[in-house]
Amino acid sequence: MKLICIHKDLAQLTFLGISNCYLVRERDGFTLVDCTISGQAENIIQAARELGGSIRRILLTHAHVDHIGSLDQLHALLGTVDVAISQREAPFLHRDLSLHPNEPQQKVKGGFPGAKTHPTHTLTEGELFGSLRCIATPGHTPGHFSFLDERDGTLFAGDALTSIGGLHRVTAPAWYFPFPKMATWDFALADASARHLLGYKPKSIATGHGRFITNGTEELSRILG
Ligand SMILES: [Zn+2]
Repeated sequence: MKLICIHKDLAQLTFLGISNCYLVRERDGFTLVDCTISGQAENIIQAARELGGSIRRILLTHAHVDHIGSLDQLHALLGTVDVAISQREAPFLHRDLSLHPNEPQQKVKGGFPGAKTHPTHTLTEGELFGSLRCIATPGHTPGHFSFLDERDGTLFAGDALTSIGGLHRVTAPAWYFPFPKMATWDFALADASARHLLGYKPKSIATGHGRFITNGTEELSRILG
């Protein structure tokens, strides 16, 4: 695990060099954005301890294997912790991959291993969870959400965007890192979601895969053309 302190209230944790999760400091402790690959719960809890807090909330962008991998283990070790995922993505956390009649009907892609942990809260578009504004960004998966920290303007984009080799649309990644694209359900929706995020004018962008992007709005404008 590699830990980068972005600033005193935000740390990026990277596993196997490609899979990120984030510790966001709140008044009562940390919100963990995503749970990376399996087997990392103790490392994540230890990182929070070293940063001087404990994890109070787990917020999931979507239910792919590399974003929920350590969820059950974290839940077991932390005991009482809020777990939140979007209302639409919640069934995917329990391996119900069925689509709604009003959605594009091609099958979802990527690994959905499911989890034993049940969310304590399901998120709706526009609500505030801790300090994070919840934004529906469907496309990569049907219920993918992104989160904007309104205190410092950091956008947690999950796999709505990718930043290996610089910021990219998930539908047009760096050629040597095609995996988030290969696991994307609907390209048109994913591109529309990326454009929707520009409207929030993020100061910086924290993705599921790749480095932290500091000039967020400028980079997002550039990749949208
Ligand atoms: Zn994904």
